[in-house]
Amino acid sequence: DIEINSSETFVFRSKLPDIPISYELPLHDYCFEKLSEVSDKPCLISGSTGKIYTYAETHLLCQRTSVGLSTLGVKKGDVIMIILQNCPEFVFSFIGASMLGATTTTANPFYTPAEIFKQMATSGSKLVITQSQYVDKLRCVTENSAKIGKDFTVVTIDDKQENCIHFSEISGGDEKKVQPVAFDPNDAVALPFSSGTTGLPKGVILTHKSLISSIAQQVDGENPNLYLKSDDIVLCVLPLFHIFSLHSVLLCSLRAGVGVLIMPKFEIGALLELIQTYRVSVAPVVPPLVLALAKNPALEKFDLSSIRIVLSGAAPLGKELEEALKCRLPQAIFGQGYGMTEVGPVLSMCSGFAKQPFPTKSGSCGTVVRNAELKILDPETGLSLRRNQRGEICIRGPQIMKGYLNDAVATASTIDVEGWLHTGDIGYVDDDDEVFIVDRVKELIKYKGFQVPPAELESLLISHPSIADAAVVPQMDTLAGEVPVAFVVRSNDLDLTEEAVKEFIAKQVVFYKRLHKVFFIHAIPKSPAGKILRKDLRAKLVSSS
Ligand code: ATP
Ligand code: MG
Repeated sequence: DIEINSSETFVFRSKLPDIPISYELPLHDYCFEKLSEVSDKPCLISGSTGKIYTYAETHLLCQRTSVGLSTLGVKKGDVIMIILQNCPEFVFSFIGASMLGATTTTANPFYTPAEIFKQMATSGSKLVITQSQYVDKLRCVTENSAKIGKDFTVVTIDDKQENCIHFSEISGGDEKKVQPVAFDPNDAVALPFSSGTTGLPKGVILTHKSLISSIAQQVDGENPNLYLKSDDIVLCVLPLFHIFSLHSVLLCSLRAGVGVLIMPKFEIGALLELIQTYRVSVAPVVPPLVLALAKNPALEKFDLSSIRIVLSGAAPLGKELEEALKCRLPQAIFGQGYGMTEVGPVLSMCSGFAKQPFPTKSGSCGTVVRNAELKILDPETGLSLRRNQRGEICIRGPQIMKGYLNDAVATASTIDVEGWLHTGDIGYVDDDDEVFIVDRVKELIKYKGFQVPPAELESLLISHPSIADAAVVPQMDTLAGEVPVAFVVRSNDLDLTEEAVKEFIAKQVVFYKRLHKVFFIHAIPKSPAGKILRKDLRAKLVSSS
């Protein structure tokens, strides 16, 4: 073991065997491949209206929308933009665009006009599907001289708006007019943007091949990694504009032929009510949602016994929080997936969700997906590392992105010549092939020579009964370079002092991980996909010092 062979690569694989993945069908046909078997089953359930669309109805509305979009001039190679909260029209539009060979870029409805116009311009989209409440943002001529109805088309799904088209006009297309389009598996179908946690959001080109691969890696094969049973109801509360929800909630469910319960936005009372009413069985969540479920007393009042799977992803989740939720939902299997927009998106998934499950450990982010390879590189030397050694996680497989939109330089620095995508995340693979994420390379706090992962301290902090939420960031320090400081949200106990918090951490960690300061605030800034916006907190530190 002492001998170093610089050319040796240690590649980690799934515990599940590879499966054949075919790219003959485009994404929409692949998702609805088993339509005839599930046509009368519920496909989309609107949590806000109670309306249920069967698989046959959903498919028909996707076809009609595709005809309607083509009447508006959308054709192969075009990009449409969706700015919607979760709703059935999101699905009809996304699949409808795919049927035309067009690409969909999804934007966060909370974006400012400037952010929206930037995404419109970089993606080259000339048609926006949105809700009337966001139309004013699109009318902000001060941000952009483009005009609705003249330079671009706006479709609203709810109220009619001036110069805009109503969704009923496009969803009423004649499905018999669907024209078959020639497809190449390497054609783009989705243009999601990364979350913008570490910098500006980056446009990511995902092809039919990327998404089909990533869906197949989860739900296909005799022993699917994420086994969805025919009567499952999957919760869709995470925003569909983010790739986690679009891929792992919506597209995987369509492929598996299960029901999707759509919630336009997160609200704990409504969420619990809907889980109880519709007997939700699979709950994809993000850490802030786990926090809400683990700490909210309202949980006791609802029957949540239908939940059999809780799948957390998108951001680090500490063991303490995981245990707290497990106590509240003892019947459910709890596990994590590890995703990244650029990876189309899933790198690893809890193998406890497989049809023939494997035992898994708390804190693990699962095992690398099938039909893919994972390796860990020493960030300093670039050498491939063995088990239990921490380094940058790299992945290779058919699901990774084609590249960043209009950014060949960023693409080349992310995907190397051998096809390995470098994630920028630090982690390791243990003796049982389980992947553990330590933190992002960019987020590690460097105290003298020592590395302090903020995620680890945050996890300890929120295990404190008087702490509702917390985030840790580096503060510049002349002696140490950087020191960890915490932002803490108190639960009820207003007597919780800075000293008590520091002491609580100091008792549990090595000296260099101790907190140097604690700031009490009202809420931790987070992105809609549940990521702590540490850059906002760092900015707060700079402006206050
Ligand atoms: P940006 O790249 O724009 O700064 P982002 O990286 O947050 O934003 P996403 O593609 O949405 O954008 O998120 C991918 C990242 O989320 C991963 O690189 C990883 O850091 C983090 N992540 C995803 N799943 C997990 C998980 N289960 N545990 C820990 N971190 C995770
Ligand atoms: Mg990223």
